[in-house]
Amino acid sequence: MENAQLLELANKYGSPLYVYDTAKIASQYNRLTGAFNGVKNLKLNYAVKALSNINILKVLKNLGAGLDTVSHQEVQLGLTTGIDPKNIIYTPNGVSLQEIEEVAKLGVQINIDNLSILEQFGQKHPNIPVCVRINPHIMAGGNSKISVGHIDSKFGISIHQVPHIQRVVENTGMNINGIHMHTGSDILDIDTFLRASEILFDVAKQFKNIDFIDFGSGFKVPYKEGDISTDIEQLGVQLSERFNQFCKEYGKEITLMFEPGKFLVSEAGVFLAKVNVVKQTTSTVFAHVDSGFNHLVRPMMYDSYHRISNISNETGRDRYYSVVGYICETDTFGSNRRIAEISEEDILCFHNAGAYCFSMASNYNSRYLPAEVMVHEGKDYLIRKRQTIQDILHNQEIIDLKPSTKKASVSA
Ligand SMILES: *Cc1c(COP(=O)(O)O)cnc(C)c1O
Repeated sequence: MENAQLLELANKYGSPLYVYDTAKIASQYNRLTGAFNGVKNLKLNYAVKALSNINILKVLKNLGAGLDTVSHQEVQLGLTTGIDPKNIIYTPNGVSLQEIEEVAKLGVQINIDNLSILEQFGQKHPNIPVCVRINPHIMAGGNSKISVGHIDSKFGISIHQVPHIQRVVENTGMNINGIHMHTGSDILDIDTFLRASEILFDVAKQFKNIDFIDFGSGFKVPYKEGDISTDIEQLGVQLSERFNQFCKEYGKEITLMFEPGKFLVSEAGVFLAKVNVVKQTTSTVFAHVDSGFNHLVRPMMYDSYHRISNISNETGRDRYYSVVGYICETDTFGSNRRIAEISEEDILCFHNAGAYCFSMASNYNSRYLPAEVMVHEGKDYLIRKRQTIQDILHNQEIIDLKPSTKKASVSA
């Protein structure tokens, strides 16, 4: 998307604003399917939590993706797109048996990540096939909050407990139809991925009725210039060959699944915010925008880097800025950034804002959630209106209690 077009959108819809480009989503989807075209049955399930606007879900459905969901509500969002529940996988962590049963009733593929619920579910519903999430105990992931496959991680059933899974299967008569792992976002190199995959093949061999192996996600995308990203094409060549060999040994053409979020939508999104104030202190020039960690929390929560550019002054002379928000806590988007000279009312563009940005936004400070716009074949579509005060008040019951104003007597 060109800066001129983004500026126009900020003018038309106001700021702050999220903008998504369907062409980028499609090219990422096609790149991933292309890398694995050597595999007969490939299924990409888009991780809804990355960006859950139903219009984005529809775009992905129309591209041929299934959906990876982590809550009953994400399943419900998915179903509103008209997607076949068979194309949804439900991969929660630590949810109640009751929630899993509700989702199973909808016909969605269930993925269970602990022995206790697996056994209870198997006893009550031996006829519903279930996938199990395995923890391969491989250290991966860009930082400790998003690295979820290591030995003391809360996710998945340990590979050392596979005999327990088999005992549950024998005792309940349930059927394990899939093996899953998700080792964490931001996998740095494909060797780690391939090592974890070997562990999954090993587990899969131990079950008779496997229909699919789900390798999760964790594909890294570049956030700044020079960032290394997952070499998808190389991974495609190596994993496809290994997967096809596994199918031969197993005696069945099973499905290879992935569930990428960030890879599909991160680079497709930008966040636009207006500069309220430029404040020069003795050490720093702050650019305060009309947003904060209520709208984009990744820099504050994960120390994530989002490139920031001044689309109102593309050709201006670079200066150093700390870009901060309006929240009454420190909310630094980036410190000491070289950005084309910023004036008040300029529009700043935060890049890579498609994944885990809007979907993690909140109403903190009672600010409105931003509007969302989707650009498709040169046309812009409002896909979420900016909130109003009615949205903030919605669901609040108004009662008017009168606490006593009598002063407490001081006891001796
Ligand atoms: C979050 C998540 C994903 C998506 O991860 P990305 O890094 O966004 O690709 C996939 N699978 C599971 C189970 C997840 O929790």
